[in-house]
Amino acid sequence: MNYEANIGLEVHVQLKTKSKIFCGCPTIFGAPPNTHVCPVCLGYPGAMPAMNAAAVRLTVLSGLMLGCRINPYSKMDRKNYYYPDMPKNYQISQYDQPLCLGGGLEITRPDGSKKMIRLTRIHIEEDVGKNMHFASSSGIDFNRAGTPLMEIVTEPDMANADEALAFLEGLKEILRYGGISACNLEEGNLRCDVNSSVRPAGQAALGTKTELKNMNTFKGVHGALLHELARQIAEVQQGRRIRQETRRWDDAAGITLAMRSKEEAHDYRYFPEPDLLPIVLSQAQIDDWAKTLPELPEQRRARMIRDYGIPEYDAGVLAADRAVADYFEATAKHGKSAKAASNWIMTTVLAKLAGQHLTIGEVQITPAQLAGLINLVEAKTINMPTAKEVFELMFAQGGDAAEIVKARGLAQVSDAGAIEKLVDDAIAANPKVVADFKGGKEASLKFLVGQVMKLSQGKANPGLVNDLLRRKLA
Ligand SMILES: [Zn+2]
Repeated sequence: MNYEANIGLEVHVQLKTKSKIFCGCPTIFGAPPNTHVCPVCLGYPGAMPAMNAAAVRLTVLSGLMLGCRINPYSKMDRKNYYYPDMPKNYQISQYDQPLCLGGGLEITRPDGSKKMIRLTRIHIEEDVGKNMHFASSSGIDFNRAGTPLMEIVTEPDMANADEALAFLEGLKEILRYGGISACNLEEGNLRCDVNSSVRPAGQAALGTKTELKNMNTFKGVHGALLHELARQIAEVQQGRRIRQETRRWDDAAGITLAMRSKEEAHDYRYFPEPDLLPIVLSQAQIDDWAKTLPELPEQRRARMIRDYGIPEYDAGVLAADRAVADYFEATAKHGKSAKAASNWIMTTVLAKLAGQHLTIGEVQITPAQLAGLINLVEAKTINMPTAKEVFELMFAQGGDAAEIVKARGLAQVSDAGAIEKLVDDAIAANPKVVADFKGGKEASLKFLVGQVMKLSQGKANPGLVNDLLRRKLA
């Protein structure tokens, strides 16, 4: 029998605000424990929360980018449960009136086809503190308590691990474009709970689901789903029932393990938060915010293909990050060849950044300077190996490519007379290789080109060297 899977995600995203959701404490990551705290985020009795307007705005913007209906009236609720990292014994969240409803995100599957993954809702809530366990004691860091989160809940529309991964990657791309979240997984900016179930193909009702809690890497979600779906299918095939339970992913062992069953599940006894006013948004306010939205990744890819004539693959790589796309467009505008700009950024620039753990915003070379370098290659003033050398210098200290080439005497030698002399020298010095070439060994020419390049200290125009060698040897 064939089985099909249904996967739904609950993604918690840290919103990019300067301060926490209900107090003025900063949201900076990595500060010493319990240094960014106050009576509100420590849950002191009587402390009064005040809503951070930026958190509401960023959530509404996310909803607009994801095609949600923005709820003109939403409210905050208390979700009651006890946990040591949550000092109030309740979390302020949203229950029956979330900020955003419906919407969806279209994913591209590995085979290139598209699929819409529907969203149920997006609501805002506060994060909790962080438990830390030492050799013989435990501590709690409340710096993270009260950090604004947005929870994006999907319908169970994903059918396999690949689709879940594509959804998470697409979501991250959009949220970064919109400046909603840094989406830094290492800092826990994006964490998700994964619900999955299996059912015989064609069965209308969903199977019993299990939940994987607090996954903080995309690779983990993918690996956990591969294992969990196979486990569920094996259970059902052996005539056993799937228990509705919370499981955890053991990354090292590559398996999921039961944590607690539904019998122990919480009843949160939600009720309206009496210390916060409902969030009432006028259409004018929503429209005003909507005006600040950037072009979305999908639209940008299409426009870059249209405006710059670059291949779809290039547009995909460059537009994956808004800052990289900006850098490319600025370079292409200053340069003579958009395709050359794309090649340089995709290969040389991005590889260099990755190697040094830098972002495009930290690069020393301005788009105009990179375009200057590319134009020198296009004009055949310098050859490619020299250009890479100049690039290294510019990467380290910035500067103008033409000036570096001039100061270091790197300009390509395209004077046929000067090159001819070097070609003669190379032929005279390598009689055996010359004989090989004449005997039909085509690869020998490459060696001779290399010798001439060496004699010119890398400055000869390789095309010209090639032509002259062929002519002489013929
Ligand atoms: Zn605080």
